[in-house]
Parts: sequence; structure tokens; C-alpha cells
Amino acid sequence: MRKIDDLSLEELEKALAEIGEPKFKAKQIFDWVHNKTVDDFEGMRNISKKTREELGKIFDFTKASIELKLESKQDETKKYVIMFEDGNVVESVFLKYKFGNTACISSEVGCKMGCLFCASTKNGYVRSLTSAEMLKQIYLIQKDTGEKISNVVIMGSGEPLDNYDNVLRFLRLINHERGQNISMRKITLSTCGIVPRIYNLADEDIPITLAISLHAPTQEKREQILPVAKKYKLPELLKACDYYADKTGRRLTFEYIMIKGFNDSTEDAETLSGLLRNKLANVNLIPCNYVKEAGIRPSENSDIERFKNLLSDKGINATVRRELGSDINAACGQLRNNFLKM
Ligand code: SAH
Repeated sequence: MRKIDDLSLEELEKALAEIGEPKFKAKQIFDWVHNKTVDDFEGMRNISKKTREELGKIFDFTKASIELKLESKQDETKKYVIMFEDGNVVESVFLKYKFGNTACISSEVGCKMGCLFCASTKNGYVRSLTSAEMLKQIYLIQKDTGEKISNVVIMGSGEPLDNYDNVLRFLRLINHERGQNISMRKITLSTCGIVPRIYNLADEDIPITLAISLHAPTQEKREQILPVAKKYKLPELLKACDYYADKTGRRLTFEYIMIKGFNDSTEDAETLSGLLRNKLANVNLIPCNYVKEAGIRPSENSDIERFKNLLSDKGINATVRRELGSDINAACGQLRNNFLKM
């Protein structure tokens, strides 16, 4: 059966026309699904019983439930394990920042990218998520916390540009004025650097923030920790980033996880500032999470500060990512992995 929550308003209008219903009803139904976020037809009070029954014959709803929730004692961060109809789980996070309530969502179950430092990829790739499964993570978090989400980061498990069509559909649905109406400017998509898709995204004419998991300042070092770098080399990646910035006028974020003794030297900071000189860019320095299997440890705080100051001296805008919820299995697939082991 078709999932009603995966459809655009236009597709819903078409589907309703096929069962002889007027167009305006599609708007009402879309409002129930994506604004009031009901998950059955019974709740749609302004839709007649007959229409609801007809709809129930051709559509059902994407099902998702919160299987596990961890609440930080240090701040208001909440981490969720969310299960879909087929029993697969992903993790999603609620973060409270001064600028707004943020949901960090997953785009795939597992991941193919194989980055050395990342827990999401350790158990391999299972499947992509549908657009409604991405929406559901946000709708469930809103219901659970009773708070409206204003910002979204696609930085949970999975590589969003590896699930391009569904992610694009998700973006248009979450941004829809009759749905949650979350501004594209308040959405960040993080990618390890699938170059052709960065060009595609630039041409979509949606002003989201693009974050690039750069993590190392040279081709040689990048290859050591991100297998995708072998396929899409650093100069090509930076060229695609320039195209994105030119086309959208948006400042890019370069994420740089700080790994002790690997990418945190003065020389690394200088090479990085050379790469990003004269670019519309922010650098986000992220103390990496400890990954035992890969022997990866976070840089010392003093090294992170020094690195940041070196970048700032060269005129590069750099910030250190504030760690939230570090008492509840930091990020990046660790929680799902622990859940799978239970
Ligand atoms: N696949 C996308 C989005 C998911 S990862 C990407 O690669 O960008 C979201 C961010 O978390 C990425 O920047 C990723 O590199 C980072 N990350 C993964 N493992 C980490 C770890 N052990 N410590 C800190 N950040 C990590």
C-alpha cells in the first residue's frame, strides 16, 4: 500500500482526483498528516467517514516508534532509538541550543561509507530511509518533548547524498508551508563528499547549509580515514564546494574532527587555512569521540584551542562544537550499536 506521508501535496491531489475527491481535500489531509502529524485517518475530523474509508483502502501511514530514550543529566539533550515497521532502528537526537530546538536525524539504516572513525558504518549498510521515515523522526521527537523543532541537521547515521531522492523529498516536505514549515536556511545537510551530488544539490535551488566532512587537510590524510576520498579527490571536492557557494550564496561549513596526533598539528592548521583561504566558509572543529577499534583518540583541549586560534589568525572563521549530551553515548551510531547488542 502507498504511504500517505511520503506524498507531496501535488501527488496527493492527483491520488484524490483518481478516487473522485476534490482538490481542496488534499490540502486538508496534508495538513493533518504533516502539520498536526496524526498517524491514522480516524483523527481527521473535517474529512467525512466515507472519504476516510476510501483513503484507508489505498493508503496507510509510515509506522515508527520510540524504542529507547536516553536523557542527559547535564543538559536537555535527548537521544532516541527509533524503530520502523520492518524492525530496523536508527538514532535521532534532540538538542536545545540558544538559536532553537534542533533535531539531528538519520538518513539511512547503517552506512556504506566505511569512515574509520564512525560508529554508524561499523555494522554495514542495511537500507535507505524513505522521506516519511525521516519526517517521522522529527514528528516523534516533537510529540515526545512537547517542543517545536525549528532546526534540522542531517547528521545522524547514513550518507544523505547516497539517498539523494528521498532526502530531497524529505527537505521539500519538512519545508512545506502547510506542513512543519521549517525554513531551508535552518536545515544543515552533512556529507562526506559525494562530488556529483553536491553539484546536483547546488542546482536544486534550495538554500540549505551544506556541511562537508573534511576531517583532514590533505588528500593523503583524508584517504586514510575516509575511503570515499579515494574516489572523489580533494581538489574536485573543493571545486564542487565553490560551485555550491557561488550558486546558492550560502556559506559552507567544513567539519573537522580533531584526532590526537593525526590532524591537529600547527602544520595541519596551516595547510587547512591555505585550502580555505578566500572561501565563504566556517570551520567546525569537533573533538572526535574515542573509537577503540581504530585507536582514535580526541585531541587535547589545548591543542584544539591552539588549532582554532591559528585558523582565526589566518582569517578563517572557526568554532569548536560544544559537546551536548556527552553522558549519553555521544553521537554517530554508538547508541544504535549498543541497542543492537542488547
Ligand atoms: N555521512 C554524513 C553525515 C553523517 S556523520 C557525513 O559524513 O558527513 C555526521 C558527522 O559526525 C560527520 O561530520 C562525521 O564525520 C562525524 N563523526 C563520525 N564519527 C565521529 C566520531 N567518532 N567523532 C566525532 N565526529 C564523528
